[in-house]
Amino acid sequence: MLSIAEAWEQVAAAVDGALEAERIRLEDAVDRVVAEEALSAVDLPPFDRSAMDGYAVRAADTAPGVPLRLAGELAAGDVATVPLEPGTVTGITTGAALPDGSDAILRSERAEVANGSVTPSETVAPGLHVRYRGEDLRAGDVLARPGERLTLPRMSALASAGVGEVAVHRRPALHVIATGSELLPIGAPPEPGRIHESNRLTIRIMAERGGAIVTDHGVIADEPAATRDAVAAGLEGDVLVVSGGVSVGPHDHVKPAFDACGVEEVFWRVSMKPGKPLFFGRRGSTLVFGLPGNPLSTIAGFMVFIEPALRRLAGEAGALPRWRRARLRSSASADDGRSTLLTSRLVRGEDGMLEAVPTERQGSHMTGALGESDGFVLVHPEDGVLPAGAEVDALVLD
Ligand code: AMP
Ligand code: MG
Repeated sequence: MLSIAEAWEQVAAAVDGALEAERIRLEDAVDRVVAEEALSAVDLPPFDRSAMDGYAVRAADTAPGVPLRLAGELAAGDVATVPLEPGTVTGITTGAALPDGSDAILRSERAEVANGSVTPSETVAPGLHVRYRGEDLRAGDVLARPGERLTLPRMSALASAGVGEVAVHRRPALHVIATGSELLPIGAPPEPGRIHESNRLTIRIMAERGGAIVTDHGVIADEPAATRDAVAAGLEGDVLVVSGGVSVGPHDHVKPAFDACGVEEVFWRVSMKPGKPLFFGRRGSTLVFGLPGNPLSTIAGFMVFIEPALRRLAGEAGALPRWRRARLRSSASADDGRSTLLTSRLVRGEDGMLEAVPTERQGSHMTGALGESDGFVLVHPEDGVLPAGAEVDALVLD
């Protein structure tokens, strides 16, 4: 049976790189991954402008105590229609374009205004408080490169640089199917023998956070033909995720349905707990995952294999599972000879490092333990009993 690391390598190898590019409005592009260099459309600043509220002056005219005639006012957005004459100044606000003829700014705090004249308290050096055209950016400067995510700072810079459209990788289309004749909709009145369904909800949350567009095929009864039809429809996406029905019971129809629909198996079963009977295969370029139906197994399998695969499809070339280092606050060991994801409280230690307290109850059926956890820590069988203070990999779930 594959280890978690080996199984992830298989998934990573099956991703044919990023999805194709599309041009979209900058307003819609936050968190997307850039496919083509995004260039500044303008010089920044686009014109010589004032960095202060004060007066545009000819620096050579300024001397302490020597009055200059106040010839006008320029606010941000104004464009001077006449050049600044020698011996005059014009009022100017921060961000306004300097009039021709001026070459410096006298700050308001360094000037006395009376009877239509402005008297500097000091000599102003040429260029003082002027932001020159292009000193920040030149039109054509590269602001975002292929593979970079459009974070808040990049969004701000691109908007300031006059960019209205960007080429980004298409978002992966993820189709989700839940199988199980026992499943009740969220919030439905209880019924004998049936349980409430949660996996389509959590898969949608994890998939959308991973950048995917989700199509939900609903809950399919444990019945071969219905399962086959749903799988056939779900294979239209870039990624198909089926929850439940992927074990070896008489009502597990997912693997035969994959087979009937031409899905090639890459692996089935991973040495992990929870989540062992996890299926991964491909049909053409579609990645196909079958996740065991226990809510914990579904979350673990998705976060370890599917979430990073989605980020690779969305353009993040080297995306990896989001393991973070954490320190155990109490001892922990693997179970059943498999790498074990222990539901844990994850808190920040005094030195800032993440610290993990595995929940008292463990097990893929433990909804209560899941609800009181902040994520998982990973303990391998070969680690034996890890003492408090040992470092482990953790997956933060929020
Ligand atoms: P399965 O993988 O189909 O054998 O399901 C394993 C366990 O997970 C069973 O107890 C199912 O009732 C439960 N289960 C299956 N699908 C879901 C779901 N979508 N939401 C919550 N629990 C589920
Ligand atoms: Mg089932």
